[in-house]
Amino acid sequence: MIIGHIGVAFAARWRWPKAPLPWLLIATMAPDLWRGVIAASGLNARETNLYSHELPWSALLAVFLAGGALLALRDLESTFVIGVLVLSHIALDMVSGWKPLWPGGPNGLELEHFEQLEFLIEVALAWAGLAMLKRSSAPRWIVGWRMLALLVAIQGAYLAMSYEARPWKTRCIAYPLAPCWTHL
Ligand SMILES: [Zn+2]
Repeated sequence: MIIGHIGVAFAARWRWPKAPLPWLLIATMAPDLWRGVIAASGLNARETNLYSHELPWSALLAVFLAGGALLALRDLESTFVIGVLVLSHIALDMVSGWKPLWPGGPNGLELEHFEQLEFLIEVALAWAGLAMLKRSSAPRWIVGWRMLALLVAIQGAYLAMSYEARPWKTRCIAYPLAPCWTHL
C-alpha cells in the first residue's frame, strides 16, 4: 500500500490539527522509509521486511519516531498520534500484502492479488483523507484536485513499474476481477 497511507496522514491532520503534516507523512510512511534505509546495507527482502514491518521491530520504530516527535514538538498528543500512525502503516499493509505481523504470526490478507480492488481501496483512502484535510486549516494548494491526481498518478506509476519489473514482475492483473499471482 502506498497512497492509502498518505490518506490516513491527511485524516489525522484534520482530526489532530496541532500535529504537523510533515511529521504525520513521515510517520505514515516510516516502515517503508526505514526499509529503504536498511536495504542499502545489503539485507535481503525478507530481512528488510522483518526489521521494518514485523513486531517487535515495527513497534520499536513507532516508539523511536514518537520519541523524536516528543523532543522536537514537545506535545504529547502529537507524539501519540505519530506513534499510532506508524502502527497504522503495519495494519494497512496487512490488508494489501502478505507480510506477517510477527515472524510466524498471522499473515496479511494479500488483497494486492486483486490489483484492481487494491487500487480502488488506495484511491478511496487518499480521497477520503483529502476530503477531511480540506475541512482543516491546511494550505489550499495541498487539498485541491491536483493533489488527488498526483497521488493517483504515483500509485499508477508504481503499479506500472511492478508489472514491468525485470527479471520478474511483482504484480499482475486478472480481468475483470480474479486473484492473480506472480511466481517469484
Ligand atoms: Zn509498507
